[in-house]
Amino acid sequence: MKQGQAKHKICRRIGYCIWNMPNCPTVKGRARTYAAGLQGKNAHRKKLTAYGEMLLEKQKLRAHYALTESQLRAIYLYAKRIEGKTNEIMMQRIETRLDSIVYHAGFAPTIFAAKQFVSHRHILVDGKIVDRASYIVKPGQVISINAEKSPKIAEVAKAVAIDAPAYFEVDKEQLKIKLVSLPTIDAIPFSVESMRVVEYYAR
Ligand SMILES: [Zn+2]
Repeated sequence: MKQGQAKHKICRRIGYCIWNMPNCPTVKGRARTYAAGLQGKNAHRKKLTAYGEMLLEKQKLRAHYALTESQLRAIYLYAKRIEGKTNEIMMQRIETRLDSIVYHAGFAPTIFAAKQFVSHRHILVDGKIVDRASYIVKPGQVISINAEKSPKIAEVAKAVAIDAPAYFEVDKEQLKIKLVSLPTIDAIPFSVESMRVVEYYAR
C-alpha cells in the first residue's frame, strides 16, 4: 500500500477523508474547496452516471477498508450465496475481518496500521496469534494484544481515542475487544451506499 498523499486521491474526489486522517489534503484544502463555491463537489457529483455512482461507492468501500479488488469481489460473491440481504451480509463480512475490527474498535490509528499489527503477529484471537488480516471473527470471540510481548503496539492501541460502535465490548486497560454481535449496516461507523456496490458487482 502506497503511503503518503498519493493514497488520498479518492478523498480529493469525494471532498472528505475516507479514513478520517488529519494529514489528508482535503483537511488542509477545505477553505479552497468551499471557495470554489457552487462549482464544487455537488455540481461534480450530479454529473455522475448511474454506473459512475456504483463505481464510486465500490471504490469508497475498497479504499476505506484497504481491500484489493479481488478481495472485495470474493466477499460479494460469498454474500450472494448466503440467504438474506446481500448488501448487509457483505458489510458484516467486511466489518468482522480481523483488520477491520482492530481499526474500528480503536486499537490502531488507521486500517493500514491495523493490517500491519495483524501481519506482524501482535494480534491474538481467543488467546492465539492470528496473522491473517482476512480472518473472520465470530460473535463471542475476543481479540487482544499482549502488552508484555508487544509493548510498543500496546502503547499505540491505548493512545487511539475513538468511540467504538456498540457491537464491540472494548477494554482498553486489558487491551481486549469482544465482538458482541454481528453489526447492522447503520451501526457501522463508515457511510457507504452498499446497495450500489452490490449493483456494481451484479451488472
Ligand atoms: Zn484522505
